[in-house]
Amino acid sequence: MNTDKEQQRHFETRAVHSGERRAKHEDKAANGQDAFYPVSTPIYASTTFSHSNIETTDRVLGGEEPGYSYARYDNPTVAAFERAIASLEGAQEARALAFGSGMAAMHAALAAAEVTVGATVLAAEQLYGSTATLLVQVFGAAGAEVRFVDAYNLEAVEKQVGELRPRAVVIESISNPLLRVADVPAIAEITRAAGSALIVDNTFGTPYLQRPLDLGADIVVHSATKYLSGHGDITAGVVVAGAPYDGAAEQVRKLVGGVIGPFEAWLAHRGLKTLPLRMARQCENAQEIASRLASHPKVKKVNHPSLKDHPDSEVAARVLSDAGGLVSFELTAEGRDAAFAFLNALELCVKAPSLGDVYTLAIHPATSSHREVSPSRRERLGVKENLIRLSVGIEHPEDLIFDLEQALDRI
Ligand SMILES: *Cc1c(COP(=O)(O)O)cnc(C)c1O
Repeated sequence: MNTDKEQQRHFETRAVHSGERRAKHEDKAANGQDAFYPVSTPIYASTTFSHSNIETTDRVLGGEEPGYSYARYDNPTVAAFERAIASLEGAQEARALAFGSGMAAMHAALAAAEVTVGATVLAAEQLYGSTATLLVQVFGAAGAEVRFVDAYNLEAVEKQVGELRPRAVVIESISNPLLRVADVPAIAEITRAAGSALIVDNTFGTPYLQRPLDLGADIVVHSATKYLSGHGDITAGVVVAGAPYDGAAEQVRKLVGGVIGPFEAWLAHRGLKTLPLRMARQCENAQEIASRLASHPKVKKVNHPSLKDHPDSEVAARVLSDAGGLVSFELTAEGRDAAFAFLNALELCVKAPSLGDVYTLAIHPATSSHREVSPSRRERLGVKENLIRLSVGIEHPEDLIFDLEQALDRI
């Protein structure tokens, strides 16, 4: 929950200050010195928390009084990170809950939306592969009906939601690897009318580009492994939602135990402070790279929402504050060999999966993110063998372009 005064501050200011310095400290005046507050929330490496009397512990455990009792339920370092995320996702009535991974967060969001036996869940066919597999192998196996739709075709979404009346609809603000941009306000109108919960995975968007709760979504999920932490050094996830989903997701977290650890929460919170700076630079770099690649003779097609020929350039201008830090492109040369030759020729960009790091990362989607997808489905989704995806970092753009061009010269 955020205070009004805090929410009136700008995004950049909240990224730095939100969540900090609110934890209650008991070190006060032990040896006559004044009470003090650390500037950065400490890492509370403590499994349990004690109170001055057992009645307080009783009320905290009973949920009648706020406080910390046991680390699977709550922890001050985790709570500080959660307050910062809730502030950045901008939702007055919403709470953030941090998890040990993006997948644990997505699982809790789906369970909180009561995707259970007899319920239907409608999901974007472009979803992150593990999310689609989670739906089928965990929720589907437990009796939920799992259906897929092209989430970037509004008519198809409207038709399917009308017919299926799903309990929940799961989409991504920006898809991988073609970077399609969802019309979240329009989809939210459709799901609201049908009484379906709209779950938006905002990992690629981040609250810097879009705040889906403000656009009508019910639950936001992040893999904080990516942009939110931003340095490629932790695995983490977040759910942001208002009632009743926040309480339900918290209960799932308590029982399943997918809570983030205090060390990871601290690193994620530290990374979050520079999210606006990183995103601004990454968006700028990505746009420059996209426009330079678009005119390169060895590049056939570039996907970036800033480009006029992107199918969602109009939607992107309406629902995103900038065009994002990911770029994908098809080489003029066909086939996997050309893509591998290009990747092997890179000297600065790091060949590694994941995204959203300060380093520029390059991957071959057909053999990484879409490895488990059948070749025919890959073809339909536009994930060709000569497609490369870049997660653009914060380096100097000329060094990145130099590296990409020298690698293109060598294929
Ligand atoms: C990485 C990712 C996930 C899964 O997150 P983990 O932190 O790896 O569990 C979910 N959705 C999207 C869009 C992702 O990129």
